[in-house]
Amino acid sequence: MSAEIRTETRFIADRMLGTLTRYLRFMGYDTTSANRLAEGNTKEDTVLLDIAVQEHRILLTRDAELARRGKERAVSLRSEDVMEQVQQLIDAGLIERRLTMSRCSLCNTALREAFTCEIQNADYAPKNWRDHTFFWCDHCRKLYWNGSHGKQLEERLENELKR
Ligand SMILES: [Zn+2]
Repeated sequence: MSAEIRTETRFIADRMLGTLTRYLRFMGYDTTSANRLAEGNTKEDTVLLDIAVQEHRILLTRDAELARRGKERAVSLRSEDVMEQVQQLIDAGLIERRLTMSRCSLCNTALREAFTCEIQNADYAPKNWRDHTFFWCDHCRKLYWNGSHGKQLEERLENELKR
């Protein structure tokens, strides 16, 4: 493992931040979510803080009180708008503006290059294979390719963030 990967910021996001969670995964950041926890735990805030410490993650939350409890381990997201949230994390020096298509947006698993049989068996794959690079999530058994799910995000990162 390279030093760069070891020091890269990892996140855990609260339930309010589903869209930001998907965006961060598309940007290649290891981002787990409160959605992985069973619902209805009245001590969920404490669980999230514990996970942040144990797994060396930054807690992202819309709850200013929770962020205060997390101290330097937490960031209070000011805006409801996902691009403003991304911008806040860039401005804080926590992430870079990039798109890597290296993690599954659904489950956070690192993607690998897809085998031909996996592309063939996915009826939702585009027919013009040579124009694309395909990636595969072993957990969800889901095919990704550049320009599919990432396209809109790519344009938003290009057009809506400060230089
Ligand atoms: Zn997945």
